[in-house]
Amino acid sequence: MSLGYCLLPMTTATGPPSTMAEKEDELTPMLSQYLELCEAHEDALVLFQVGDFYEAFCEAAEAVARVCEVTLTQREDSTGTYPMAGIPIDNASSYLERLVDADYRVAIADQVEDAEAATGLVDRAVTRVITPGTVVEEELLASGTTNYVASAVESEQGGFGISAVDVSTGECFVTSVADRAGLSEELDRIAPSELLVAPETPTVTPADASTGWMETEVDPVLFDHEAAVDCLSAYVDPERRLATDAERRACGAVLAYAEYTQGDDGTLDYVSRIRRYEQQDHLRLDAAALRSLELFENRGLGAGDTLFDVIDKSASALGRRCLTRWLRRPLVERRAIETRLDAVDALVEASVERTELQDGLADAYDLERLVGRISRGRAHARDLRSLQATLSVVPDLIETLDGIDALAPYRERLDPLEAVADLIEGAIVDEPPTELTEGGVIKPSFDADLDELRTTEREGRQWVAELEAAERERTGIDSLSVGHNQVHGYYIEVTNPNLDRVPDDYTRRQTLKNSKRFYTPELKERENEIFGAAERADSLEYELFCEVRTEVAAETERIQALATAIAELDAACSLATVAAEGDYIRPEFHDGSADSGGINIEGGRHPVVETTQDSFVPNDADLSQGEVAIITGPNMSGKSTYMRQVALTCLLAQIGSFVPAEAAELPVLDRIFTRVGASDDIAGGQSTFMREMSELTEILHDASEDSLVLLDEVGRGTSTADGLAIAQATTEFIHDELGATTLFATHYHGLTELADKREGVVNRHFAATREGDEVTFLHRVAPGASSASYGIEVARMAGVPETVVDRARSVVESADGSQAESGPTGSQPTANADQTPTDKPADSQSETNRDGSETTTDTPSEQTSAVDNDRPSYPEEELDVGAEAADDRASYPEEEFFGGTVDPAVDDPLDEESMVRVAVALRSVDVASMTPLEALNTLDELRSELRE
Ligand code: ADP
Ligand code: MG
Repeated sequence: MSLGYCLLPMTTATGPPSTMAEKEDELTPMLSQYLELCEAHEDALVLFQVGDFYEAFCEAAEAVARVCEVTLTQREDSTGTYPMAGIPIDNASSYLERLVDADYRVAIADQVEDAEAATGLVDRAVTRVITPGTVVEEELLASGTTNYVASAVESEQGGFGISAVDVSTGECFVTSVADRAGLSEELDRIAPSELLVAPETPTVTPADASTGWMETEVDPVLFDHEAAVDCLSAYVDPERRLATDAERRACGAVLAYAEYTQGDDGTLDYVSRIRRYEQQDHLRLDAAALRSLELFENRGLGAGDTLFDVIDKSASALGRRCLTRWLRRPLVERRAIETRLDAVDALVEASVERTELQDGLADAYDLERLVGRISRGRAHARDLRSLQATLSVVPDLIETLDGIDALAPYRERLDPLEAVADLIEGAIVDEPPTELTEGGVIKPSFDADLDELRTTEREGRQWVAELEAAERERTGIDSLSVGHNQVHGYYIEVTNPNLDRVPDDYTRRQTLKNSKRFYTPELKERENEIFGAAERADSLEYELFCEVRTEVAAETERIQALATAIAELDAACSLATVAAEGDYIRPEFHDGSADSGGINIEGGRHPVVETTQDSFVPNDADLSQGEVAIITGPNMSGKSTYMRQVALTCLLAQIGSFVPAEAAELPVLDRIFTRVGASDDIAGGQSTFMREMSELTEILHDASEDSLVLLDEVGRGTSTADGLAIAQATTEFIHDELGATTLFATHYHGLTELADKREGVVNRHFAATREGDEVTFLHRVAPGASSASYGIEVARMAGVPETVVDRARSVVESADGSQAESGPTGSQPTANADQTPTDKPADSQSETNRDGSETTTDTPSEQTSAVDNDRPSYPEEELDVGAEAADDRASYPEEEFFGGTVDPAVDDPLDEESMVRVAVALRSVDVASMTPLEALNTLDELRSELRE
């Protein structure tokens, strides 16, 4: 379909080149054709087929030369000289990929008639427009991925209708969201490659600019109610299937755009279903959660594995795409979750059958994309063979599944589509050529007419092959030979010395130096027969092929259903393999009533971190529903990992996967929220305090008692007083008002006091031990709060003079004041009656504590020395080391360091200049936002300044 209007905006490389437009009337026919096509596709860079190349001219040529790194040449004719750059058609995909990556829409103007047959100018037409969100070329798409173009329309009620389509597979869906935050969340989850925008569509910035989408401004007409409904009606009954006008407009617009990019083929028949869902039909993960849980993208430096990498053991592209969808949209319906778990469970048990299934699945081609090509009429003979090859494994899959009851639902959906398989098997040769018009595609005995033509051709050739012997015999010329060339066709060649023996019926065709070539009337006749038959056979083959393709395309929906079944089976096999190889267990779910909820995980592991760690320390999680766990502990002790592993365990369970733990009893969550404090979210780029707070606001609005909230160092982007105040108020609100189960890792020790004041707030901490000079993190969660003054203890052990250490203690006390714990080094961890220290596996224990001693308190001064005598009182104790000194602070607001009084700690007379320097430095120190160790270091530096 042609939109008949232009898609904005134009760049200099797109639209009609001004130098040509100026002399429109003088241009050669070819260039004026080019100009016309540019005018019709103003938003796109037109690539114009000239023989074996796609050429671009003028500004477009410059863009192509730059982006594709090809030579910029010139085309000269009577009207002028035009810059020109071309890419070889045979090898176009890598160049096209570069252009699309550089955010060009590329319109491919192919020669649509045979150049030899054409009289005058060859007819050309734009056969497709390639854009990031509508690519269908297999070479330009990563295998097993989804690729969406999306659109969003604001409704009169203030919500938004959202729709997306994957043009390569025909997947299409719509949904509605209530507000802007919902829109942003949904788009981040869909992660389209391209978003259509009209002037009045809301601006949504991708949460992650690096992986965000390309915005395509389209004519607002596309979003008009009438136009949209018109387009939609070819697919569904718009009134019945879609809920709101905004949904209809969004969906109509993406479909119209998708049609436009696929050339003039009209309706995309393989978009056979438009799925409609509500956000709450899935476990909702907003962009921040998708990001910080590293489901699909690793945020770390030198990016490593993601959760998806860990769970993807799929054998086929179909399985991989299905797993992606599952992970993007975990389930919330317990029955559906259990059904998937049953399948995974059965496949974990049936390991032999699983291997068999995976062997079969590995031979499955990407049916979803194949069927798209078949339906668009762009499938090659090889594509049909790929479909046939995939269908041929189906009976084996069915047989393997036969004995496994839990997999009956999968088996029933495996439709072998025998008629289609037989049709292709009977029609298309096993290894067809890439060209469809040169014969060799259709098998013998598929079509009687074709067979007859091929017989005529074959018999003719046979006759010619025998002609040589016959003519030698007849003429007695032993050197006589029969040959063929492109220009003259068949000939009989006789060397000069034998010319006198040439019979009368020979007519001369060609004279060479040493010989002459002849034909006979019969040879001529045979030749016509052979070539006539061959030509008709070739075009008949093409016709037959197209018929077969159309017949297969008629089964699009059944093939799509089969594709879904294969995909889900493969995804389930993948999860089972991960479970079996990774020692996962099947999670149990609570029955869902409000107070039976809670998260109970025994020996839980982080599915990704455990694969990168020599030894991973398993941890329990025991949170009743609505409980808030405040998690303290030094940097690098394992807080973030622990919180994420709890969330990932819940999430895995809800996609129907086993989980990395010894036992898990879980609730069905409605949403997972994660908020990572500004200073922790290094890779985030725009992590300002404002953003942190606005994200927090979202939680405060949206979390329910079925939600899981992870707060990692939230409130860090501001001064301690504010930060603690916000952290505390947030915690209280989540606990008192929302009742969401929450894990809060914080360095605000003041927060740990909440546990005393509120029933459902508990403290947990992570700690470390020291052996000699080595500090080892135990990575083990334990009840109670961490001490506030671990930094000072570390400093003392590092040999900082007693005076400094003592002074530092009093600084901590006075600076933290009421915000921090009252007894800095002597306080007991806040006791939790229901918590006993976790039992640790012996191996991880022996690694950290040589003598096997177990230390769960974090009050080093209360430990008695057992080993190390020259370091009084801190032998192999568990200690908390201070936050890393590199803790970045952008600015240090002027604040008083010691509340105005400084003890002169030295007896020497002071040099006034250095005193001033120290005083100035002191004024600019923001003790409130420093870790104790940082305070200590600063103190030590300043003191040495005075001593010099
Ligand atoms: P924190 O958030 O307390 O600063 P992290 O959770 O980021 O600490 O953990 C720091 C590092 O410690 C991780 O990158 C990982 O390598 C390691 N780690 C964390 N938890 C464990 C564990 N349970 N077992 C083994 N190593 C762990
Ligand atoms: Mg952390």
